[in-house]
Amino acid sequence: MRNLAVLTSGGDAPGMNAAIRAVVRTGLSHGLNLWGVYQGYSGLIEGNFKRLGARDMGSIIQRGGTVLGSARCPEFQTEEGRELAVRRLHGAGIEGLIVIGGNGSQSGAHALNQMGFPVVGVASTIDNDLYGSDITIGVDTALNVALNAIDNLKVTASSHRRALLVEVMGRKCGYLALMAGIAGGAEAIVLPEVDVAPEQIAQRIQDGYERGKPHAIVVVAEGARYNAEGLCQYFKEHGLLIGFEFRSTVLGYVQRGAAPTCADRLLGTWLGSSAAEQIIAGNTGVLVGTSKGEIITTPLTEVAGRQKPLPSWFLKAAEMLAR
Ligand code: ADP
Repeated sequence: MRNLAVLTSGGDAPGMNAAIRAVVRTGLSHGLNLWGVYQGYSGLIEGNFKRLGARDMGSIIQRGGTVLGSARCPEFQTEEGRELAVRRLHGAGIEGLIVIGGNGSQSGAHALNQMGFPVVGVASTIDNDLYGSDITIGVDTALNVALNAIDNLKVTASSHRRALLVEVMGRKCGYLALMAGIAGGAEAIVLPEVDVAPEQIAQRIQDGYERGKPHAIVVVAEGARYNAEGLCQYFKEHGLLIGFEFRSTVLGYVQRGAAPTCADRLLGTWLGSSAAEQIIAGNTGVLVGTSKGEIITTPLTEVAGRQKPLPSWFLKAAEMLAR
């Protein structure tokens, strides 16, 4: 292999830049030409490629987001779109591609690999729902942002004896809500994976009020049956939560944009560099992730369309610890 390309796709995640940098510099150290594909799969279809040198990767490790840009590209989900992408890659003399992204992006990587183009995926999503890695790039930073917000909200909630419903990201996956909720000492955690009636949540908060709690923090995953505002509305309409005054807060995109933590810079570097080594060694059609402190590769056929379950111990602990 002489020419290797890298792209970032789907939702951006802090630590993606560390991964790009590691791919590029590892590839260069093996004597390859490195190419950046801009704006994810859209850039692949448009042929938006640029040669990258070691200096292009200077001072990016500490930055959130992705210097290559990212996009959601419906055209890539069509066969014609992917065929055009493969023609663009061949046209530029590129012989291998590294895809840094989450679930949807790795399904795209799998589809491309099935067309005979060598691809290696890098596990990167703040949702941590990707099968094939214990932890993914961006999770630690997003969790810390959510946790700081929860800590701050708890202070003001206590001053006013309020119940605050805090909505955190994670489309179909409650990982961020579960872990930030436990680490933040939330009174209740509402997840898409566990369907709980709003009456039950209200009862739990009310019980806390009656036991003299100064506040209630409810961490709600955005993909749950009722989001934070939806729950507030429901409580109002049904006259629930008589004790506390209540408010909702949506953390939204602030969870994505933060500078990567040390853990995410190291993970991005480790996975990015390992992905370059795997593709150079000819181990393609795999996702590079980590398990039990080691690098692992999982065939993209097993990764595509699969969601990693929530960690069962924490799921049980959430119930037990919110007393
Ligand atoms: P993430 O990778 O963060 O989960 P998305 O789910 O939005 O983000 O996926 C990113 C992009 O990956 C999509 O816009 C699309 O271009 C591509 N993609 C997603 N699913 C598939 C699929 N089944 N086949 C081909 N491409 C896909």
